[in-house]
Amino acid sequence: MQLSTYLKIYPCPDQPGMNLVYSTLRSSVVLLPDDLLEAARNKTLPDEELETLTKLTILTPDRAVEREWMLTIFDTPRRSTPFSAIVVLNLDCNLACPYCYEESFRDKRYMGAGTAALLVETIRRERIEKGQPVRLTFYGGEPLLSLDLIRAISLPLREAALEAGVSYRFSLVSNGTLLNRACAEELVALGLSGAKITIDGPSELHNSSRPYLSGNGSYETIVGNVLDIFDIVPLQLGGNFSRDNYRDFPGMLDDLLARGIDPARIGATLFAPITPKSGERTLSDFNTGCACSYEPWLMEAGVWLREETLKRGFPAPRPKLSACMVELENDLVITCDGSYYKCPAFISRPELRIGSLAEGLRDYHGSHNMDLWKTEECLECAYLPICFGGCRQLTLLRSGEMNEVDCRREYYDTVLERVVRQDLDYQRTKRET
Ligand code: SF4
Ligand code: SF4
Repeated sequence: MQLSTYLKIYPCPDQPGMNLVYSTLRSSVVLLPDDLLEAARNKTLPDEELETLTKLTILTPDRAVEREWMLTIFDTPRRSTPFSAIVVLNLDCNLACPYCYEESFRDKRYMGAGTAALLVETIRRERIEKGQPVRLTFYGGEPLLSLDLIRAISLPLREAALEAGVSYRFSLVSNGTLLNRACAEELVALGLSGAKITIDGPSELHNSSRPYLSGNGSYETIVGNVLDIFDIVPLQLGGNFSRDNYRDFPGMLDDLLARGIDPARIGATLFAPITPKSGERTLSDFNTGCACSYEPWLMEAGVWLREETLKRGFPAPRPKLSACMVELENDLVITCDGSYYKCPAFISRPELRIGSLAEGLRDYHGSHNMDLWKTEECLECAYLPICFGGCRQLTLLRSGEMNEVDCRREYYDTVLERVVRQDLDYQRTKRET
């Protein structure tokens, strides 16, 4: 047995002789004294430790085999891997957020009934009838402006899935203004399994960042809805911050606590920056962390906001094995006109269209430069399982092409140890209370 390639080892300054060993492959973490770490390196570990560290993927039978396995990790998805599509129901919104990424192409288009029927038929034929579970994410614009389409898609897919003995679930990326209790109850019955709602800090700040088209503030309505539905819909809270305002964001969490929310009932809270390094606008509501940015203040702001989130009892996402949708065969974006893309950020770029419901899926390996991470450097990098070459959109914004990896080494060198220690500290506090 050998130490896995995909490990970070952090000495503990407050516990001399101890090391935090973190597997990026399994997100497992173990505290190892120097002598055991040395024994793991020399392959002289006692049987009991050998077994435990193998289970945690800290040890691997053979690094060369582990590396070969990494090369094929996305090649043969299991039949039980759900088909996962982001469905853009409209390009319209009842808010007028000044930073909206979609502003230049949000032209009030809606998916037509014919496209919705074709979507149902295609997913039924190509996925459900072949025994594959289905997970849709309804997206916009604002997806709840298309409640009729959510019904028209979910009712038949839910029925078909029941008949085939597979699961059908959907989630929403919503501004939260329309997701009241009655709406949530109806959608839960149709398969709603979660919603990501964006709140840009406390009342005054949010109202200037995310006003209604009329200019009125949307904070009270959204927070009211969150309080009304968090017990029946797993919610993910997000918010889009800037360098000037991120320190105010925890005020929103304080407000939710003061109004009686149980933070442990919230699925996860993740704040993300409005502006990436290039100075271009980034994804707004989609920004769930797959696009991250590397300016020093941003890395600092991200870790600080995570700490403030955990401190208040709200869960924060942990680093885990993940890759850009471009790499994942079972992940697609389907737009209002039925076109296929690999990321919501690509939908304003017709050159990145990869087919449609009517035409089927085109081979996009070349156009999207898949497998960019299959290099000596990435395969030997401890961060590979949580990076896989990073975000294609950020590379596009920086250079106009997707021909190189968006390397996150500097980012993870700066933040990963702190994030792992944050989680350990908050798990300990939770156990003690
Ligand atoms: S390009 Fe990939 S990693 Fe980047 S935002 Fe899109 S799906 Fe996420
Ligand atoms: S892109 Fe950079 S951080 Fe990511 S796996 Fe490759 S070398 Fe590591």
